[in-house]
Amino acid sequence: MNRKEIWVYLERNPEEIEDVSLEILGRAKELGKKSDMSVVGVMLGKEPGNLGDIALKHGADKVIFLKDSLLESYSTEDYTKALFEIINKRMPEIFLLGATYQGRDLAGRLSARLRTGLTANVVSLDIDTDGYLLSGVPGYGSKVLAEIICVRNKPQMSTVRPGIFSKKLIPIKAGIVEVLDLDLQGSVSRVRVVSRKVEKHPDLSRAEKVIIAGNGVEGNLDMVAKMADIFGARLGVSRPIADKGKASRELQVGSTGYSLNAKLVLIFGVSGAEHFLPGIANCQTVISINMDRESDIFEYSDYCVVADASKIIPILLREGGDR
Ligand SMILES: Cc1cc2nc3c(=O)[nH]c(=O)nc-3n(C[C@H](O)[C@H](O)[C@H](O)COP(=O)(O)OP(=O)(O)OC[C@H]3O[C@@H](n4cnc5c(N)ncnc54)[C@H](O)[C@@H]3O)c2cc1C
Repeated sequence: MNRKEIWVYLERNPEEIEDVSLEILGRAKELGKKSDMSVVGVMLGKEPGNLGDIALKHGADKVIFLKDSLLESYSTEDYTKALFEIINKRMPEIFLLGATYQGRDLAGRLSARLRTGLTANVVSLDIDTDGYLLSGVPGYGSKVLAEIICVRNKPQMSTVRPGIFSKKLIPIKAGIVEVLDLDLQGSVSRVRVVSRKVEKHPDLSRAEKVIIAGNGVEGNLDMVAKMADIFGARLGVSRPIADKGKASRELQVGSTGYSLNAKLVLIFGVSGAEHFLPGIANCQTVISINMDRESDIFEYSDYCVVADASKIIPILLREGGDR
């Protein structure tokens, strides 16, 4: 009997595999060992070059490459169609994707088409003795971890947050890269790509030092950004700042943004709402500055400074050497 399979979507950017996909491969390998399932990476797009080998070295037992000229650049509809066909035919037990824009975009559409459940934005993955995937989602300001199981339908699907698992190099004996020539017979996409601009933002989940600007320092964002520069830290923001278009969504920290793994995080003018907190749960040292002594953020901080950030920031800038 064929072994059951855990599939991992290998997102490309497009010359490399996104780190989150390699992180998931490493965890999938551990889960595969525990449950006697094999790990399959699924890749679409341009010719994979050495990307198949990279996936094999990071935990895949096999890589499936779906080939069709329509898949050379990402489109929600064409990628969904291609993945739906292959998943429906081979029906893996589990299908995991990164909780990136692309992963979230694909996962929602695919799960609806496959009529299966999807757990979004998970921060832990395990498998029980019956082969059910346990997808951990934090709740109540990260005070509880709800493990969600999809019992009825297959595949069991989850999107996994970047930076939760670490990449692992796994010695391989031999691996297979299977190239499947699809014949999608014309694009189903209603979107036509006119031009393509790739913006490269630093992956906040890997930054060692992060300075976060919240709503309370909305008027002082330039100064906070300057401070991050001077202190060699990355800038992060809470959601309202991104919602108002004052900073890129790529800088958002929290349950729908990045989960930080920083050694040091300095937080200005953030209240500590439930959806913000998972973003800082894995940080080593948290320093918060807030005018409100009763602010919830202080409960989750190692050092609490009750002060008006607009007065503190210029002092810190001067201390950092800004003239
Ligand atoms: C489904 C969902 C997902 C979400 N995902 C996220 C997410 O990923 N990330 C996220 O951040 N939010 C997220 N949110 C929004 C979240 O619930 C909060 O609304 C948000 O975190 C509040 O941001 P804030 O703390 O910056 O702003 P506010 O709540 O407005 O707090 C501002 C803080 O600044 C302080 N302050 C004001 N002026 C000063 C000053 N001069 N000096 C010092 N302190 C000052 C105030 O005392 C206050 O504590 C999500 C919400 C939902 C429903």
